[in-house]
Amino acid sequence: MNVSQIMTPGPTEVRENVRMARALATTNPDLDLQFYEFYKETCDKIGQFLNTYNEVRILSGEGILGLEAACASLTETNDRVLVIDNGIFGEGFADFVKMYGGQVVFFKGDRKCKIDVIELEKFLEKDHDFKYATVVHCDTPSGVLNDIDKICPLLKKNGILTVVDSVAAMGGEDIRVDEWEIDIVLGASQKCVSAPTGLTFLSISEDAFKLMQHRETPIASYYCNLLVWKEYYENKWFPYTPPISDIVGLRQAIDNILEDSEVIERHESIGNATRKAVIESGLNLYIKDGYSNTVTVIEIPEGINDKELLKHMLEEFNIFIAGSFGYLKGKVIRIGHMGENAKKDKMAYTLLALQNSLKALGFQCKKDMAQIFLNEV
Ligand SMILES: *Cc1c(COP(=O)(O)O)cnc(C)c1O
Repeated sequence: MNVSQIMTPGPTEVRENVRMARALATTNPDLDLQFYEFYKETCDKIGQFLNTYNEVRILSGEGILGLEAACASLTETNDRVLVIDNGIFGEGFADFVKMYGGQVVFFKGDRKCKIDVIELEKFLEKDHDFKYATVVHCDTPSGVLNDIDKICPLLKKNGILTVVDSVAAMGGEDIRVDEWEIDIVLGASQKCVSAPTGLTFLSISEDAFKLMQHRETPIASYYCNLLVWKEYYENKWFPYTPPISDIVGLRQAIDNILEDSEVIERHESIGNATRKAVIESGLNLYIKDGYSNTVTVIEIPEGINDKELLKHMLEEFNIFIAGSFGYLKGKVIRIGHMGENAKKDKMAYTLLALQNSLKALGFQCKKDMAQIFLNEV
């Protein structure tokens, strides 16, 4: 495998101290009581950057496990679940809800805009009989960022628990779980947290645990069952052997974030400068409002083929950026500036590579993107 610079919206680059941490000698994580303390401290540190006192659990599986575990643990047959959909991951929650017997009701938003909270409020005035609702913080294929600070308290006021997929946002965007009354928020190791792929973590409110404990039917899964994790610390018992090296690496990655007092501001300034460079160069951003600071999604200019563009960037500049999928396939390119990749030098080089690759394929930018970016950031 060639090592290229990966400027995709996850996985992101893994810092050396995280890679080294994963190589340390380890103990038996089921038997060594010290590991229970290490696991708990790591969970508490995750809670720290999520601004919550809620319980946190780290599970052995990629981010998708977090989405499925939340739905599996909360859903019973015929439960009505509100699926807030303005993107591919937003819509995708419906599959997990249905899989566990829930009845999906969609609230659909414009896919080029963030969810309109006033419209959602009007919708809820007519119908709010839902056990819980799902919403995506940053829907990565389009790069739209939803106002979960307004959406979650509104749902809670209507007696609806919330499940938030913040896989592509947490660590790069502000998130205040307690203040915003988010019942379950889930993330993954390979996005802004910048650890290797393979872990998901969730913060779980007391209300969410209560709901699971008061189910009429058991949770129809073991691997996706959040309740089996509830008392791990008291009982000194894990439901399965935790992937200890992955967790030691994650701990270092979390420490890197906590030590970085300007992490959110840096994402913001890089996000803003990137968008300005894109617009002034004559390219178009895909969405109209709700720009995330972790990923920028750009329309592919007329006459340019996305695969050729990505190939050119990789072969000539050793830079990986991404296309998209679903209804966006072939229409946009995506640059991830999240976590370890939210750095001035990496983004300036990425924009230089993009501008030159576009030029080689026949599109001339109006201005120098890297220069605009550097002037602004
Ligand atoms: C990356 C991501 C996930 C995890 O999905 P993978 O495609 O398996 O990486 C879940 N939700 C969102 C919003 C993501 O960006």
